[in-house]
Amino acid sequence: MKLSKEGVEELRGLLARPQRIVIVSHTNPDGDAVGSSLAWAEALRTMGHSVTCVVPNKYPYFLDWMQGIEQVVIFRTDTEGRAARAIAEAETIFCLDFNAVSRLENLTETIESNRTARRVLIDHHLAPGEGFDIAFSHPDSSSTCFVVYSLIEAMFGPEAISPRMAEALYVGMMTDTGNFAFSFLTPELFRAVAVLVERGIDIPRIHNSVYNSYTEGRARLFGYAINRKMELIEDGTVAYMSLLEHEMRRFQFQQGDSEGFVNYALTIKKVKMSAMFLAHRKFIRVSLRSRGDVDVNLFARKYFNGGGHRNAAGGKSFDSMPETIERYVRAVREFAEEGHLG
Ligand code: 5GP
Ligand code: MN
Repeated sequence: MKLSKEGVEELRGLLARPQRIVIVSHTNPDGDAVGSSLAWAEALRTMGHSVTCVVPNKYPYFLDWMQGIEQVVIFRTDTEGRAARAIAEAETIFCLDFNAVSRLENLTETIESNRTARRVLIDHHLAPGEGFDIAFSHPDSSSTCFVVYSLIEAMFGPEAISPRMAEALYVGMMTDTGNFAFSFLTPELFRAVAVLVERGIDIPRIHNSVYNSYTEGRARLFGYAINRKMELIEDGTVAYMSLLEHEMRRFQFQQGDSEGFVNYALTIKKVKMSAMFLAHRKFIRVSLRSRGDVDVNLFARKYFNGGGHRNAAGGKSFDSMPETIERYVRAVREFAEEGHLG
């Protein structure tokens, strides 16, 4: 990953005078979305800017411990209109960890109603959207946190990384790389991690706080999902799993409880691609994961109106669960016939 020098200089110019800034991240914010927002917010505040972080809906409970997370305004439950006010008054809006304003769902309209603010993208998803004044779009970065780290380093040097920023950045780097196991694990990333370690981050504590803080219901739901709901097709090379609302209720489901389920099928040696269908009130959320060259970003775009990364993507279905599964099975067949499953 290489930052554009002109981009960095342009950003320096844009931030030359203190101003009102909003940082916004994606729907169902994850460790990378929240970590990058908190670290970038602190960097901007240190420069003298006034910053509000906004997310469309609540982050999962296993991120509640993160320092400063209570200041992140959750648009869906923001009855006081803090988010709308901050967005209306913003002179610059940073879009972190997503590639197009349309992905903000319930927040899209509010962001678009501010027609004067400059928009800056800091992201690592494929296919960035239009309409950004500056775009740091780096699909070859393993996380947005690594892009934010690189930006802070390029603008102010590694000394500018505070212990709080270091912790927030580590959360995103750790979660988006599946604990440093997925793609784009470059020497530069580990040099960045070395700086975070120098700032005194407590890696075992961060790891425990994120991965070993689930509820009993989640553990039991996981067992149920793997044992009763996981199906294998295409000679055992493709997996899928689905959860209906009544099944989630039975295990006192909280948002974030199904995190990681879709990855689990890939622990089976033969499985190259895995899907999770999670029922919501109005639609079914589709999560896709793959190994190696199998491109689920392409699959998500083609069949589920979504996108993401090559090995982790998602989309939505507005059909019923049986119809969605049937569509998936047919799509997988077509995908295999076209040679995309290797
Ligand atoms: P997850 O399965 O963790 O929700 O999402 C995996 C990846 O796919 C994330 O990087 C996420 O941003 C992306 N993604 C999930 N849902 C959608 C969607 O509906 N549209 C697009 N373009 N990307 C999505
Ligand atoms: Mn990310």
